[in-house]
Amino acid sequence: TNYVKIFGVKIDKVTMEDANKRLVSYMQGEDLKMVFTPNPEFIMKAQEDADFKAILCQGDLVVPDGIGIIKASKIHHLDLPERVPGIELMEKALEYCNRSKKSLFLFGGKPGVPEAAAKKILEKYPNLVIKGTQDGYFEEKDELRILDKINEAKPDILFVGLGAPKQEKWIYKHRKIINSKVAMGVGGAIDVWAG
Ligand code: UDP
Repeated sequence: TNYVKIFGVKIDKVTMEDANKRLVSYMQGEDLKMVFTPNPEFIMKAQEDADFKAILCQGDLVVPDGIGIIKASKIHHLDLPERVPGIELMEKALEYCNRSKKSLFLFGGKPGVPEAAAKKILEKYPNLVIKGTQDGYFEEKDELRILDKINEAKPDILFVGLGAPKQEKWIYKHRKIINSKVAMGVGGAIDVWAG
């Protein structure tokens, strides 16, 4: 096996380079792959939330975001090679999208925030395509409309920034009908991009 379990949460034994390669291969594939980036806070939350723990364990790519995870792996003699911060993995995905003219969708953040992030991303990566944006403040009754919007856009990659565990639960719940190749939980990264 090429993963370890830290307090019951699966974490893949990958370097940033390995993670990037897997992400690129997913984006050339067909079915939706789920990418999660747990930090120690996720692991803590997962101890009290069995659904969250089970969902993290089903991620296709689960990377160690945060030095605390690397340290925990060393204490348990389960060496993880290095930190793979979600924000840096997102950057790698954007670089790939830019090189290969792939498309993305930004979902999450307060109204106006994903739009501002989209603008900044396009300034840095003008060759990628932003197929749509959606803020992350919605009611249950809006979910189908949001899914339709994403599915009509058919992005190569969907970034979901609703905070944990909301983003992982949302991705998992809709994994069979999301029309994209990758859905990645990115926490506050959309805010960071918006500046
Ligand atoms: N968020 C959202 N909808 C919600 C709750 C949060 O879109 O119902 C967004 C929030 O605006 C922020 C992100 O989710 O952009 C969560 O950021 P936070 O830093 O809390 O997440 P972390 O990176 O710690 O997982």
